[in-house]
Amino acid sequence: MAVDPRNTSRRCPECGHIAKENRLTQEKFHCVSCGHQAHADKVGALNVLRAGLVRRNAPPA
Ligand SMILES: [Zn+2]
Repeated sequence: MAVDPRNTSRRCPECGHIAKENRLTQEKFHCVSCGHQAHADKVGALNVLRAGLVRRNAPPA
């Protein structure tokens, strides 16, 4: 399974919607599709779990 690590911080953990608009600020996540809100770090962590080794192999930001 391939996961694009670039989307980990803007992918909704609830519905899977990916949009840069989901990431209002560095800290806040608000899904424009389902309205899910969370701390961006938590969203990133959830998505990194999915991304797994792909994320680990990505170059540092
Ligand atoms: Zn959503």
